[in-house]
Amino acid sequence: MSARNLDGKTALVTGSTSGIGLGIARALAAEGAHIIFNGFGDAAEIANLRAAVEEEFSVKTSYFNADMSQCDQIEAMMQAAIAESGSVDIVVNNAGIQYVAPIEDFPVEKWDAILAINLTSAFHTSRLALPAMRKKNWGRIINVASVHGLVASAQKSAYVAAKHGLIGLTKTTALETADSAITCNAICPGFVLTPLVQKQVDARAERDGISNEEAKKSLLAEKQPSCEFVTPEQLGALAVFFCSDAATQIRGVAWNMVGGWVAQ
Ligand code: NAD
Repeated sequence: MSARNLDGKTALVTGSTSGIGLGIARALAAEGAHIIFNGFGDAAEIANLRAAVEEEFSVKTSYFNADMSQCDQIEAMMQAAIAESGSVDIVVNNAGIQYVAPIEDFPVEKWDAILAINLTSAFHTSRLALPAMRKKNWGRIINVASVHGLVASAQKSAYVAAKHGLIGLTKTTALETADSAITCNAICPGFVLTPLVQKQVDARAERDGISNEEAKKSLLAEKQPSCEFVTPEQLGALAVFFCSDAATQIRGVAWNMVGGWVAQ
């Protein structure tokens, strides 16, 4: 097999057992990176998913089931990952959850969980990965934020706050690493048809008494002018670009892939 751009690199993708994280993990594996999977799911399905990636892309994979809302579990995962691979060269902070309700009805425990998983976990993985990245003088931190890191939508207070915060963290991390070959950037997807968005489609179908297909169209029509979902493969290609030498001077950006949502 000819040399690939990420041969010899280790990439941790949090929340990579599903959706966007899995798409990014597959794209990095296609470039030769050893993939550290993380996320919840059925043990046998995760084993199958890892075996498929190992076979298709001839890379090694590992898996840690750390709950990204728990600091001690993140610390244990990072310690074990660095002991196993020497460093985690690429960190993709992707694990995330959503909950939709008006502020006055928003359950406090949902607010806390969204802030912990969608924002604070990225602080922990970054602070724990940076010392080994600095030793190697190479690294990539990619924070999967959202269009909701750039603009708000009603009923998504915790998610919007966490994603705006994640873009702030991205900029600070980029500044603190600007004198090195470590970069930090954020990716801001619009609607991607993953389990996280399917829940919103289901809720809309039920609320409006319409079919699943009609609910998808109406969700997109409201916000995303292309009226097409962004795909995990497209987001994976962007993550690969951020890891390339060509992207070395891209630092602290919040790069949208939203079908025109924020051009309005
Ligand atoms: P998804 O539900 O398909 O996947 C979420 C992943 O995170 C899964 O692997 C899940 O197991 C993992 N996860 C959830 N809670 C966790 C926890 N406590 N600890 C460890 N892992 C946990 O969702 P997705 O749509 O692929 O979302 C991935 C990221 O992309 C999220 O940060 C989300 O906010 C962001 N995003 C999604 C969309 C979209 O339209 N789907 C748009 C913009 C941003």
